Amino acid sequence: MRSIKPRFAPRRLFNSSTASSVPVTPITSLLIANRGEIALRINKTAKRLGIQTTTLYTDPDASSQHAACSPNAIGLGPANAYLDGERIVKLAKQHGIQALHPGYGFLSENSAFAERCEQEGIVFVGPPAKAMADMGDKARSKEIMTKAGVPCVPGYHGGDQGETELLNHAKEIKFPVLLKSVKGGGGKGMRIVMEEGEFLQQLKSARAEARASFGEGGEVMLVEKYIIRPRHVEVQVFADKLGNCVALGERDCSVQRRHQKILEESPAPNLDDVTRLDLWEKARTAALAVGYVGAGTVEFILDKDTGEFYFMEMNTRLQVEHPVSEMVTGTDLVEWQFRVAAGEKLPMTQEEIKEQIKQRGAAIEARIYAENPEKGFLPDSGKLVHLTTPKTDEDIRIDAGFAEGDTVTEAYDGMIAKLIVRGDDRETAIRRMERALREYEVVGLSTNIEFLKQLCNSPAFIEGDVETGFIKKWESELFAPKIAKPEVYTQAALGLFVSSLQSTAGLHGGSLGFGQGATEHTFTFKNLDVLDQKEGEVVKVVITQKGNQLYDAQVVRKDEAPVKFENLVSSPILGLQKTNLTTFFPDARVETTVVQDPNNDNKVSVFQHGIKTELSLVSPLWYEKALGIKEVTASVVAPMPCKVLKNEVQEGDVVAKGAPLVVIESMKMETVIRSPQDGVIKKLAHRAGDVCKAGTVLVVFEEDGAAQQ
Ligand code: ADP
Ligand code: ADP
Ligand code: MG
Repeated sequence: MRSIKPRFAPRRLFNSSTASSVPVTPITSLLIANRGEIALRINKTAKRLGIQTTTLYTDPDASSQHAACSPNAIGLGPANAYLDGERIVKLAKQHGIQALHPGYGFLSENSAFAERCEQEGIVFVGPPAKAMADMGDKARSKEIMTKAGVPCVPGYHGGDQGETELLNHAKEIKFPVLLKSVKGGGGKGMRIVMEEGEFLQQLKSARAEARASFGEGGEVMLVEKYIIRPRHVEVQVFADKLGNCVALGERDCSVQRRHQKILEESPAPNLDDVTRLDLWEKARTAALAVGYVGAGTVEFILDKDTGEFYFMEMNTRLQVEHPVSEMVTGTDLVEWQFRVAAGEKLPMTQEEIKEQIKQRGAAIEARIYAENPEKGFLPDSGKLVHLTTPKTDEDIRIDAGFAEGDTVTEAYDGMIAKLIVRGDDRETAIRRMERALREYEVVGLSTNIEFLKQLCNSPAFIEGDVETGFIKKWESELFAPKIAKPEVYTQAALGLFVSSLQSTAGLHGGSLGFGQGATEHTFTFKNLDVLDQKEGEVVKVVITQKGNQLYDAQVVRKDEAPVKFENLVSSPILGLQKTNLTTFFPDARVETTVVQDPNNDNKVSVFQHGIKTELSLVSPLWYEKALGIKEVTASVVAPMPCKVLKNEVQEGDVVAKGAPLVVIESMKMETVIRSPQDGVIKKLAHRAGDVCKAGTVLVVFEEDGAAQQ
């Protein structure tokens, strides 16, 4: 390893006394040209360093956390305006801003934009435009790497772009091959081709996707040997303007879905020191070969079957997962970016970094996405109706762009937050990650949090036996159906019961609905935590109030003897849409949060012992139907205690799925109850002004089409 010159004293910010040919100009004002968690992340460091920041926001982001985090924020208008480089440069000039940080995504790897900044005298906190252009093209970067002696994945990256010519190259490489757009990023425009017969079709599809994502030139493809059992291992590099370059350790990012990372960690598990140091060395060689400056990531693919590794691409920006490297090196890489942009020397030498990594153990990052793992990781969007986050400390960090009440819009990437955890060794880090994930509570949209917990509990992951096909390989284990305990259903019913008592009293000044003397209250739930399309289990809970905070409960499931709990002492803390319950079951104290989502009809989310269970409150008739006792007509029930404001339909009306049926008011909010199905209205059970308990039938459909929901 190359030895690096004397250490710079990091305490003296933007020190200009180092003897160098590069003038040191401290950064004092900054435009953060990005959104979400990255804008907040950059702002945090800038603020600490006394840099005056300005953020940008678009219409959908007007009330976002990042718009509010800086003293100045500029509105750009339409959702795609973060990509309007010319306008952003103009704004920076107009506001007399000295430097610009592009974050990641959007303009961060756009060399023309970096060049425009340079031309206008705005300090671009990133690599020189030339290095970006060289590395931005997957074909050109491979040529440069091959020349510099960095091994590349065997493949074709030349100018023959005819369909037959590419096919011939694929045949030479031998199937399976991977098609990649030279402009690729975020897994877009990539197709695996297993055999000759499907080559042309996959080529067309890759080209169409790449054109749509990257525009002109996106259709230029390279063909690579498809590695069957690869690991994704990348190296964080940093270079200054004085010719120094260091590696800040490696990250394993093999656990991916749709070629996109969800868990990243450092150091890479089960990797011998010789290979690790060789990777660092090759990464530095790669960066130096293009005259790199600033933060970059050199991505390698490691063939598990042969142990060989190959250069894949270099990302010329700070990456989403940079906190993992910060945790294991004890650095703030955004601070390093500012220092390097100002012309300073790198704050640490390679030897010092190596020493830190030895001492600081292991770190893992989990990306928390608005998506539905059970439905092929389909992205979701919506309002964060309820959000509780883990307690943070120096070893548990959250980088987030959203707070409770915010909306995750479909206009942008669905990453809600990143949870980063450090431990003295990898096992400790994984355990702490799992514990922290259990503290995460999100209601309002689907997230991958439960799936991430499954990953942390997966023996193969704990072993460090990772590869990019990890999720596919362990699919049946990772998606194993979960059976919720009777305590979960009991708490759900108790939570709804006590909140209905409060809201009926609160809304109408008296004890309507469940009052004194009321005896049995039945709640019927359908479990929504099921795999694709499969109907969830229907469970009935009967609650009997025996005194103040004293209940009996009975949980009835199909084909099982009912579970009875007697004399449960349960004390609630009531919130707006949620209830925290502490209940003494016969042998344990159970703490539970029960959340009703007002935007999502009958949905009830139960957080208990760090596990989320999603239930749907259904008409009691559903239970009888599930048991096969009766063939019943479908009906729609009140999702929460409420007052009926208006029926939107009349008896006899033909309605389509999703049509508004009834408007209700609850907890001072109006909610539109929509039709769960196509059908004919048989009966409207309530009129305007009626007060209903949760679970009360509001609308009954004609028998035809009654079976499904
Ligand atoms: P990385 O390569 O940094 O680990 P990804 O490849 O998953 O991370 O994410 C980078 C890409 O994802 C960017 O090219 C960008 O298109 C998109 N992206 C992700 N998050 C954001 C964000 N908050 N703002 C803008 N773009 C984002
Ligand atoms: P992007 O620019 O979209 O990030 P990459 O070239 O970095 O594209 O590849 C993304 C992911 O695709 C990698 O992390 C890896 O999982 C997979 N991949 C890339 N190249 C290969 C290959 N030759 N064989 C097998 N898998 C690959
Ligand atoms: Mg990549």
